[in-house]
Amino acid sequence: MSINAKELSKGIENEIIGWRREFHRCPELKMDMDKTEKLILRILGEIGITDIRTGIGGKGIAAVIHGAKPGKCLGIRADCDGLPIKEETGLPFASENGNMHACGHDAHTAMALGAAKLIYENRDKLVGDVKMIFQPYEEGDGGAKAMIADGVLENPKVDALIALHTGNIYNGDIYTGELAWHPTSMSFCITAYKATFKGVGSHVSTPHLSRDPIMAAVYAASEIQSVISRNSNPGRPAIASVTTFHGGERNNIIPEECYFEGSIRTPTDEEQHLIVERVRKIVEGVAASMDVEGKFEIAFDLNASKMDPALVKKFREIAPKIVGEEHVKEITEWTPAGEDFARFTKLVPSLYIYHCSRFADKPNYPHHNPKFDVDEAQFWSGTAYFTQFAFDWQEKT
Ligand SMILES: [Zn+2]
Repeated sequence: MSINAKELSKGIENEIIGWRREFHRCPELKMDMDKTEKLILRILGEIGITDIRTGIGGKGIAAVIHGAKPGKCLGIRADCDGLPIKEETGLPFASENGNMHACGHDAHTAMALGAAKLIYENRDKLVGDVKMIFQPYEEGDGGAKAMIADGVLENPKVDALIALHTGNIYNGDIYTGELAWHPTSMSFCITAYKATFKGVGSHVSTPHLSRDPIMAAVYAASEIQSVISRNSNPGRPAIASVTTFHGGERNNIIPEECYFEGSIRTPTDEEQHLIVERVRKIVEGVAASMDVEGKFEIAFDLNASKMDPALVKKFREIAPKIVGEEHVKEITEWTPAGEDFARFTKLVPSLYIYHCSRFADKPNYPHHNPKFDVDEAQFWSGTAYFTQFAFDWQEKT
């Protein structure tokens, strides 16, 4: 038996907005989530949910709602952390601690709690279980990894996982209150690398006694500029950039060592692997040709968030019930940004969508900007989407 999540969510709209404001006042960073954890647990307690596990991978929380009939388990994930930014919104409920919810994760948490309330209150109609996952430390990629390692996807085993990002990410023709989906990757693979060149130093007057690492690094850095143009399909976005360059101390010394760092970004693991290996070969090959030692190291690696086609199909059925068919949009723009939800998508069929909450009638600021804000009038639809998904997905699987 399904429910009308749209109507139910509109009925608790003020509660969701009130919770969001409470979270907005106390943004916390990484795993330092004492106040946020307390607030989430207080609200889950008010709702009446008792099957709660805390301290997952540090400060993660999972709350399980058991349906009346046995079935599969749907995970709903909300990230809860803020950023070290001093807020300049002037909102009456602005941050009081010097950090800021400048990415909308306060709204994610509040919308997910709204869904928890509605799913719990209607659990007599629910097939299977719903696991609400409240994840800290999304900014910086620490939370998903730690929660997965600590078993958040087990007991009960999560069979499918959904999440959303609200705010002002895509401009194009996606308007406030609309829900949007991407057919393949909502976030990119990211590899941060370091290329180190080790040679033999000498006085600048005796270059023949040196093996110049700067020369090798300069050649390698400029060769890298050709990697995308000759290895990547021109119809698909890809980035291979050099973003730092360090070497040398004085004008009359050829140094022993220098290094540069950079970022490689593509939409799929296959494309990423190819570009990373090309950059590695250039670093090692150019170094070898100039008789210096070249070392390519990966400092950080994140996969793309891969959308499950069956869940995309479900979304296409469910989202129109919430916002109407004409407000369900396909995202045609790529965003070469990372999102640690991607780590879940490797392990469980997943779907990550965009919930547009830009203001229709006042200026919008980018995410991570001190004036960033979201339109609270759109929160009900995030809650409605999660809730409707929980009931409709269980019904037909
Ligand atoms: Zn975010």
